[in-house]
Amino acid sequence: MRREKNINYNVSRQYRWQKKQKELGRCSVCGEEAEKSGLCNKHYTDIREKQKKYMKEYRKTDKWKKYYKEWCEREKQKRWENKKNKEKR
Ligand SMILES: [Zn+2]
Repeated sequence: MRREKNINYNVSRQYRWQKKQKELGRCSVCGEEAEKSGLCNKHYTDIREKQKKYMKEYRKTDKWKKYYKEWCEREKQKRWENKKNKEKR
């Protein structure tokens, strides 16, 4: 029980610190002056590069095709249901 409390305390403390840094206009990772979306130039580009790399790898796989297909099916289903509901009224 005590351990759980400690974890919660640490998480909220970290969260509060990050919030404070953001309010002060500082990077929420290192505390340097922030440039974009609460991050300094270095950490902002770091995250952007990671995202780019991830998307590159992600596009190489066929995963996104599967998700895209599923999404299309869902949209079709939604439209079809909307039509049905309209016809009912
Ligand atoms: Zn930083």
